[in-house]
Amino acid sequence: MKDTLLSLLRRAAGALLDLLYPERAACLCCDRALGEDEQDGLCPACVRALERLELRQLQREEQGETEPLPPGIAYVHAAYPYTGQARSLILKLKFERQRPAAVPLARAMAALPAGEEELLVPVPTTRRRLRERGFNQAQVLCSLLAGTWGMPMEEALMREDDRTAQSTLGGQSRRANLTGCMRALTSVSGRRVLLVDDVYTTGSTVAEAARALMEAGAASVGVIVAARTEFDP
Ligand SMILES: [Zn+2]
Repeated sequence: MKDTLLSLLRRAAGALLDLLYPERAACLCCDRALGEDEQDGLCPACVRALERLELRQLQREEQGETEPLPPGIAYVHAAYPYTGQARSLILKLKFERQRPAAVPLARAMAALPAGEEELLVPVPTTRRRLRERGFNQAQVLCSLLAGTWGMPMEEALMREDDRTAQSTLGGQSRRANLTGCMRALTSVSGRRVLLVDDVYTTGSTVAEAARALMEAGAASVGVIVAARTEFDP
């Protein structure tokens, strides 16, 4: 009884504090409290840092591929290198379930040159991860892109549960761990597919997705990601 009264009082005090000091929106990258004129979720310093990263990645893309791409992948376009504020945004989206972090990422992805693709397909996540996280970050980025570009998207792939988390493995084991874990749910026969993911590291995830898409008849597979690691891990 006493406990109940105490918790009631605490809740009332909390509600009063909320009224007096409404929570200020924080920067999606650095958590700094935003001023009233900063409405897009990012502080000016992080906006500038993201612009610099975008430019850095653009220069890198213009220099062309230095690493061999996985079989079946025509090209990989990335909006950012996977570092600094771009990495923070992706971590917020993935591990802190902050969906608004997808908006600036998708905006930068939408600025990348679009190829001849006809269909956007998000890289699937496992059902288990979907339950834990509540959403698939690749699907969130994909629908924002589809909306911006006015392009059709389809969740054409599914991914099996019960594999070791990719982030705990090195390159070779990543590929072995993934082979055969995805399959197409619909026919993508003759279609040029653009695969959407958050991060490109070794390429093993998109390689498996491309394998499943080609098996389902895809004419070609390109890849677009929010960020790409700068060096082979
Ligand atoms: Zn910031």
